Amino acid sequence: PAELINGTAIARQVREDVARGVAELVATGGAAPGLATVLIGDDPASEVYVRNKRRACTAAGMIDQHRHLPGDVDQATAAALIDQLAADPAVSGILLQLPTPAHLDVEVLLARIPADKDVDGLTVANAGLLAQGRPGLRPCTPSGVMALLDQHDVPLQGAEAVVVGRSVLVGKPMAHLLLERHATVTTCHSRTRDLAEVCRRADVLVVAAGIPGLIGPEAVKPAATVIDVGIHRSGNGLRGDVDTAAVAEVASRITPVPGGVGPMTIALLLANTLTAARRQQGRADGPINGTTAS
Ligand code: NAD
Repeated sequence: PAELINGTAIARQVREDVARGVAELVATGGAAPGLATVLIGDDPASEVYVRNKRRACTAAGMIDQHRHLPGDVDQATAAALIDQLAADPAVSGILLQLPTPAHLDVEVLLARIPADKDVDGLTVANAGLLAQGRPGLRPCTPSGVMALLDQHDVPLQGAEAVVVGRSVLVGKPMAHLLLERHATVTTCHSRTRDLAEVCRRADVLVVAAGIPGLIGPEAVKPAATVIDVGIHRSGNGLRGDVDTAAVAEVASRITPVPGGVGPMTIALLLANTLTAARRQQGRADGPINGTTAS
């Protein structure tokens, strides 16, 4: 059966590396990075996510710059808060927790986040930089997947990679990150014909469709590496988009749910915040990601 990719352990390692980086920045006269999580309203799931991000931020030695706005806040007030954080040198990264209440225009709010503080990698500017293979802040979940693949030395150059899902948050940036590493990338989505046949080509299969158990062993090439981004509450636990037990009989490596991709998202948020802070303080340490190779 497949080796389990331990996202919990790898995420801990990334977080320790970030904490060391923060300590080094401070020890050499820099300012501790500040992360502004912005929560609008009081959706219980979003509150949990934001609380976890704030805890992780503090644990890494960063400054928690959390802001909370009431759910009925008007667009101008929300925009003014983002502008204020954008101008604040103590704020290295701004994360607008999604979803925002329906009466707000989220695209307009996101657009006010300066690209160099966009630690979620969701602005049009950073998506464009990624699409062009230029350095920038990358979305956390797909970056977390890349870190898992790298920790396990999964060969990417020339490999067949299939991404299931084309969302702005996961699927599209995932495909671009794999392209950046010279994989041959195919993106599948809700209108793909014969999904299993396309997936069976993959040496590396990344599934982010949001459908529990969508991928079974018939869709997996023997010895493939399978990354399951999906998260679904089921009964008393969590499950993903992949039928993990059955696919583990075919694949060579697989991420469990929970304990696979999930813990990596916060770890990469911290890594992005440190990167942003270093750059803002003139400590650029070479390009993160990015390739101009054709
Ligand atoms: P989304 O709903 O925005 O996008 C889903 C994508 O899957 C779409 O592009 C759609 O075309 C495609 N799709 C839907 N049905 C399909 C089918 N039958 N065959 C092929 N493709 C199909 O979702 P998202 O935001 O990309 O998230 C995907 C999943 O990942 C969700 O379960 C979400 O909860 C999870 N997620 C996890 C993390 C994490 O930290 N682990 C982060 C973000 C999202």
